[in-house]
Amino acid sequence: MLVRMRPSLPDLCSLSQPSPLHSLSSPLSSSVLKGIEDAKAKGVKGSALDAAALKLASEHLGSASPAAAGAPNPAAAAARADAVSHFVLRLAYSRSEDLRRWFLALEADLFRARFRAMLPASQAAFISAHGLPFAPVPPGDWAAVRPGLAALTEAAGVGGPAAARRAAADIAGGATPPAAFYKVPFEAVPDLVATRRALLVGGSAFVSRADAASLVAGEFRAGLARGLLGAARTWGAMHQGGGGGGGSAAATAATPAGARAARGRGAAAAPPSQDEADRLAPVVASLAGRYLGADYGAEAGGAPGGPITAADIPALSSSSFPLCMQAMLSGLTADHHLKHKGRLQLGLFLKGAGLPLEEAMRFWRTHFGPKCGGDDFDKRYAYSIRFNYGREGRRADYTPYSCVKIITTPVDAGDCAGCPYKTLVSAALAAALSKAHVPPAAAAAAAAKAAAGHFQLACAAAWEGAHPGHELESAGVSHPNQYYDESRRARAADAEGAAAAAGGMGVVEGGKGGGVKVEAAK
Ligand code: SF4
Repeated sequence: MLVRMRPSLPDLCSLSQPSPLHSLSSPLSSSVLKGIEDAKAKGVKGSALDAAALKLASEHLGSASPAAAGAPNPAAAAARADAVSHFVLRLAYSRSEDLRRWFLALEADLFRARFRAMLPASQAAFISAHGLPFAPVPPGDWAAVRPGLAALTEAAGVGGPAAARRAAADIAGGATPPAAFYKVPFEAVPDLVATRRALLVGGSAFVSRADAASLVAGEFRAGLARGLLGAARTWGAMHQGGGGGGGSAAATAATPAGARAARGRGAAAAPPSQDEADRLAPVVASLAGRYLGADYGAEAGGAPGGPITAADIPALSSSSFPLCMQAMLSGLTADHHLKHKGRLQLGLFLKGAGLPLEEAMRFWRTHFGPKCGGDDFDKRYAYSIRFNYGREGRRADYTPYSCVKIITTPVDAGDCAGCPYKTLVSAALAAALSKAHVPPAAAAAAAAKAAAGHFQLACAAAWEGAHPGHELESAGVSHPNQYYDESRRARAADAEGAAAAAGGMGVVEGGKGGGVKVEAAK
């Protein structure tokens, strides 16, 4: 398969540190990256991950994509959409360390898959066009390196010992160099030299095509990392009149008002593109936090088990709430108060879980009561609860926050909002997982993933530990209400199985505290 190259976009490139290597990246849309992340969460790796990434890219960015439909030249239209998407996402995901890390990892996966799928001649042309110090093996070197490369191939054992022996024999008997190897300066591949995956001859290293793909991907990743930092600085400077400042500056300028305020605090002359920056700021800020799954709002069809009441919440929390919501409920129960972000996160989650407005009012009034009851509660909090349900202000149907939004929203000290896999230190996380009845092995797996920065994978490991015999229907956890819905379905299936095993019992959907009621069959 030939990998399509992106047209040059100097206007968009100017937002970042341009690198010619990025012409191969093009993640068309964050759907492709999200799909790759989901596949990795399922444990897909190696050539299967490459195939999944290429399929996603073809579906979302191929000439059959919506962007290309009806265009006179669908391939060129798709390539342009691909390129625009890449640079828009690069800007959107440049604004914080977490976002950059997420974007970099998945972009590199997509790049590697695309590079490996290229024909050898196209790979060589790409390497040459981008000035990388990798060259096909010169015919004049072939006699000297042939035995060593044959031995290297047999030792690598790709495809099993028999296949590796056959490949080695072909190399040993070949009169001309195959396209399967590259010659590179030995100082460019110290890891491959150290692990004996490169043949050293006369100051040069000879490496396989598979290893060369990883090296090219490494170059790509390094260039993209520089580009992301450059984009963050440029975006910050646009909003602060040249002050720079990366993520915090961009965050300050997340709204036009914020941008204007930032300029008013000492900016000299605004750059000519300032109005454009003001107009784009909210779009860019929202892109990186955009969640691509279901919205779990009140109009989304209702959670499994139907509406819930305030009285159901404690039991449902211990059976089916994700750790973030359990933590906020614990904080609320202990302090009879929750800060604004926590009230929004927990309140909208409960709304998505099926808590009607009247029950929400009862829930918050009961919990806040010891510190703020009666008229005081009505004056200070009732409006915002009705607001969440679209009964005040713009009367919008506000939807619960996704994991990406919760994880990337800064949390103040002492606030129990946020994702505990990110905010808690390891001892506190271990205690929280134990309190949530996650078995020790699953808790250890979750803690390891959290320590590596894979917060949603950690949450998925905890879910699977807390629901033995079940797997997440989605590849991982991307939304607290998805966690809850899947938990409710798993608990209902367990209760149904228990009823069937007990014999002659029927199951009624909608029971609380575990998801179902079990009744004697009529
Ligand atoms: S990964 Fe998502 S659902 Fe799980 S604890 Fe973090 S924010 Fe909550």
